[in-house]
Amino acid sequence: MNVYDSERMAEVLAPLGYVHADTPDDADMVILNTCHIREKAAEKVYSELGRLRDMRQKRLDRGHGRMVLAVTGCVAQAEGEEMLARAPYVDMVFGPQTYHRLPEMIARAQRAGGRVLDTEFPLESKFDELPAARKVDGASAFLTVQEGCDKFCTYCVVPYTRGAEVSRPANAVLSEARELASAGASEITLIGQNVNAYHGAGDDGETINLASLISSVAEIETVSRIRYTTSYPAEIDAALIAAHRDIEKLMPYMHLPVQSGSDRILKAMNRRHDRAEYLKLVDDVRAARPDIALSSDFIVGFPGETDADFEDTFNLARDVGFVQAYSFKFSARPGTPAAMMDFQVEEQVKSERLERLQQLLNSQTKAYNEASVGKTYAVLFDRVGKKPGQLIGRNAYMQPVVVEADADMMYQTANVDITHGFAYSLGGTLALGESTGTRISA
Ligand code: SAH
Ligand code: SF4
Repeated sequence: MNVYDSERMAEVLAPLGYVHADTPDDADMVILNTCHIREKAAEKVYSELGRLRDMRQKRLDRGHGRMVLAVTGCVAQAEGEEMLARAPYVDMVFGPQTYHRLPEMIARAQRAGGRVLDTEFPLESKFDELPAARKVDGASAFLTVQEGCDKFCTYCVVPYTRGAEVSRPANAVLSEARELASAGASEITLIGQNVNAYHGAGDDGETINLASLISSVAEIETVSRIRYTTSYPAEIDAALIAAHRDIEKLMPYMHLPVQSGSDRILKAMNRRHDRAEYLKLVDDVRAARPDIALSSDFIVGFPGETDADFEDTFNLARDVGFVQAYSFKFSARPGTPAAMMDFQVEEQVKSERLERLQQLLNSQTKAYNEASVGKTYAVLFDRVGKKPGQLIGRNAYMQPVVVEADADMMYQTANVDITHGFAYSLGGTLALGESTGTRISA
């Protein structure tokens, strides 16, 4: 979502004459868009700010103008005033819900001594204030359909930093999707902190769910791939599962964070589903779309997690077989209930558990990649490879695929015969025949 927000900020700034600088060294303004989800991400902000302060000084020494330094995103939202005090050289601190006010904030910051703090949750929606025209860099675009979260998992800062759950009206989403499509996006990823809790207003006062939103986006002819992220297991409904069976353009990939395989820990996390319900969901999704690739998020070392609880997580991961996964050590976040819980797990134990789990998850990714050898996949190319003449794209299952191809294939979809399965990617050659690995053909 930060990527999406950054793109929208650039669009707000374009009419003021701002363009993207390749590096921050000589920029008139630098905006750090930050993440508060774990301590490590949040702490990085201050080391980055120190670096930017030095850059600003060097720029002044060269006789160039003063660089405006701004911080946005969830660290800005959470720390606000505290950040202005801790980093007295920062000019603007604003949250993720107020960036439509950037022109006015910049004007204030440029006045002598005018430091800006705006961490409101304004009554107006930023989406109504942002420019309607969208730019797309490449063939793939994010589209925020839902923001915020009311779930209050006990470890998580999102409900505090992003605010309450809000769904954009379906028509606003569809107009933006059409904008993105005409700006060149053939793949659209609908995003939200809790994207499958989407319940946007329809035109006639009805409520639109994610499945029906997806089916409307699928009607846009030039959009060939639709994805969504991140979904919350307890909110997956029958309609979304059916969409995976029925909507050709909906890619066979689902990110379904489980966090833990232990019922006791899931309860302490306030996750609203237990292990059996999660496994049943996996079965239902696979029954609807047998080739679906599943990915997940895991937290190890939640307060009170015993060896036996961790084994439950390990076993769940082993039994489900994820194509890809993110796993983290529990990070105690200020203001969350879990940070104050008894029986915090020692760092050393967290590290050991994380390593064991990651070994398993990595081996699953590798096995899945190796099993792809011999298949033919439709691949949408979206970046250049490390070696000259290489392009990288993704297949329907989100696996990165590296091939030798002409530069004019960039942003095109083509069939690729897979010849190699690596730890994190596939290698192959452009194919002449039909795609077999998925129902999606070039
Ligand atoms: N809404 C999504 C997750 C969004 S946050 C969901 O509920 O599934 C992205 C991921 O960050 C989470 O899935 C979780 O695995 C991780 N995460 C969030 N808070 C964390 C914390 N305090 N410590 C460690 N990992 C955390
Ligand atoms: Fe955080 Fe996701 Fe839980 Fe919301 S549902 S509180 S975003 S982990």
